[in-house]
Formats: sequence, C-alpha cells, structure tokens
Amino acid sequence: MEEIMTDSTLSAKAIELIQLEDKYGAHNYHPLPVVLAKGEGVFVWDVDGKRYFDFLSAYSAVNQGHCHPKIVNAMVEQAKTLTLTSRAFYNDSLGSYEKFITEFFGFDKVLPMNSGAEADETALKLCRKWAYTKKGIAENQAKIIVCNGNFHGRTISIISMSDDPDSYGGFGPFTPGFIKIPYNDLAALENALQDPNVAGFLVEPIQGEAGVFVPDSGYLKKASELCKAKNVLFIADEVQTGIARTGKLLACDHENVKPDVLILGKALSGGTMPISAVLANDEIMLCIKPGEHGSTFGGSPLAAKVAVAALTVIKDENLADRAEKMGQLFRDELAKIDSDMIELIRGKGLLNAIVIKPKNGKEAWDVCLKMRDNGLLAKPTHGHIIRFAPPLVINEQQIMEAVEIIKKSILSFN
Ligand code: PLP
Repeated sequence: MEEIMTDSTLSAKAIELIQLEDKYGAHNYHPLPVVLAKGEGVFVWDVDGKRYFDFLSAYSAVNQGHCHPKIVNAMVEQAKTLTLTSRAFYNDSLGSYEKFITEFFGFDKVLPMNSGAEADETALKLCRKWAYTKKGIAENQAKIIVCNGNFHGRTISIISMSDDPDSYGGFGPFTPGFIKIPYNDLAALENALQDPNVAGFLVEPIQGEAGVFVPDSGYLKKASELCKAKNVLFIADEVQTGIARTGKLLACDHENVKPDVLILGKALSGGTMPISAVLANDEIMLCIKPGEHGSTFGGSPLAAKVAVAALTVIKDENLADRAEKMGQLFRDELAKIDSDMIELIRGKGLLNAIVIKPKNGKEAWDVCLKMRDNGLLAKPTHGHIIRFAPPLVINEQQIMEAVEIIKKSILSFN
C-alpha cells in the first residue's frame, strides 16, 4: 500500500477504492494502480475520467472490444427472458448454440463450461475417460504430457501440471498422471510418447502467460503427427490464443493442425461473462456419460446467446484478418524504437510481448507505470516481460498512437 499512498497520479477517490479492495479482498493479485470505471472498444476510463488504451484486454478476453453493443444487446435481451435453467432441463437456446459453435470450429460436439480452468479440467477428464474406454489403458494409469512454462489455470490438478513455483508452491499434494517436458522440443515429446500409458498431449499453441513464447514454425504440425502415430490425443488449449487473437481463428490454424480436443474460453463471451467450451468429435466426446461431468451455469441460455453473438462479431468484423494486419504493423513499429531496454519483440497477430532489460534499476513494472501515466495499460508477466494484447477492433491510427505512447514511455528511461 505504500507505493499507492506515494503515487502522486492517483486521486483521493482512486486511493479510497484501492484501499477498499486491499482491506476486504484476498491479496491474490498485484494490480497496476489504476481504477477503471468504463470501457468502450479499445479504450477504458478510470474513475477520474482519464482514458487509456487497453493493451491487456483482460488477458485476451475482450477481443471484440469493451462492451461490444451486439454482445451486450444479446446479453441484455436474454437476461430479461431466461438466464439459467441448469442442465436438469432442456432450454431453448443451448441446442442452437451447440450447433453454431460446432459448425464454427468444425467438431461434432461441444461441452459448455464457464472458466478456462474448468474447460481445461474437462479436457483432462475427457482424455482420461477416452484412455480407459477407447485406448485400453489400464484403470488409473493414464498419463498426459504437458509442457514446462504452461499456464492452464489455477485449480489443484492444473497447478499439478505447472513448473512455476508461484503457481504450485505451498499447494501440494498434487494430482499425479502428468509428464512434464520442455516446450517447443519435439525430441522430448517423441521420447515421452514412448510410454504406452500416455493418453494425451496438452499444449498451448503459443504460451501466453509464460510471456508469449511462440514455438518454432512446424512444431505444432509435427507434434500433432507424433501424437497421431501413437494414438495420443492432441489437446490444444486455445483459451488465450483462440478466437482470432493471433491472426487466425485458432492459433493451430497457422499450421493447419486440427486438435482432437479444443479448449476455448475468455473471448467466447467477448469479456462479458465466464464462458468456456471443450470441443471434440463423437468418438471422444461421447466417452463422457450423463452424470459424469457438468456445471450448474455451463450451457445456460444466457451464455448460449452471448457466445453466439461474440463469435458472430469475430466473423462479421473479420477480426482474425485485422489481428494479423494490425499485429504486423505493431511489431514493425515497435522495432523502430531505439532503446537498449527492449531486448526482444515477439508475438503473432495481436498477441505480442517485449522482453525488458532493466536499466538504472528501472524494470518492466516501471515501464508499465510510465505507460499508464501516458495513457496505455499493460502488465508485466514474470517480472521482465510486457504483454501487448489490445482488443482486435483496434485500427491503424490507434496502433500508431499506442506505439507513440510506448516509445515515449520507454525512452523516458534513457
Ligand atoms: N488456459 C490458458 C492458456 C490461459 O491463458 C488461461 C488464463 O489466462 C486459462 C487457461 C485459465 O482461464 P481462466 O482464468 O478463465 O480460468
């Protein structure tokens, strides 16, 4: 709280609101000191009316832009009609959503959930069930290969897959059944696949939370082929990379890879409510039988209508193409900034990051504070990496303005 009290840019109102969260909320986050009150498109406003470019997009949940009118309208209309029935009964919105999303992504079936972590958990359960009922692995022996540096959420089983002590430290005992290998390492994957009890390979096509690590071109394609050869499910966690973020509808599309199991979340609602989904073909999805999995809110009429609207916006506004073009422009313009604090620029589409080399004791956090002062919000990940992921509705002029802010902020440390 000391840094808040000495932050001269914060108003008394902002400080009061931060103190409220500090006093009554668990301290499980370390937010950048800015208190937001409104959002529209690529912009958010703080409680004092100052406008910022949002270059985080709620970790890529707001791909369609803040408060997209078509998504909000769908939400409000359905909220006035019927919000939740639970899956104890049928409802008049779920079936058409299921048809829509399975056709949209080209799978037989969808299993609707809420958060990204829940969808990942669902995929793990589905993979294990498939292993026992279809692949013939002996009960309780199934293993799933995961990659070092992964981020799939915060539940006990998911942190059991993590090699980041911040994620798993102090939360054991852990769920068994995972094999951890280095990311972007096909030899390690090939080696791990020798184990006949391996049922699945869970991978992020680009590791987002780890700092936007883009694997070598061809990695996903080859990895999926290796899995296929061993009858192992290729499970793509596209919670952050999917839904047009990287310049294609799915990041796997860059290599024409069709996962056996696809995990989506975040932008499936355009950032309005937690909606996630697992998609697979019948051979896999029908391994889960009634009563074996579910969620009170998953597949609610409200979620169904919102998700259809959110995906329709992605298609109608060509947001994948826009992400591709604007992302290229963004990286090209960033590369022109002449500062020894920028060690590396990497990314795909509008999922990008810069690696910051500290200078005179100033680190990525200080750069983010300076960008905030200059009207752009981003957040460091792992101390020295700043992720840049604006809403995909950003236009060329806004990219140029944003780069100018980033440039001015970084150069202020020269
Ligand atoms: N999977 C990936 C790749 C993610 O990036 C995230 C969140 O950042 C999750 C899963 C977890 O999603 P949620 O926070 O909605 O549980």
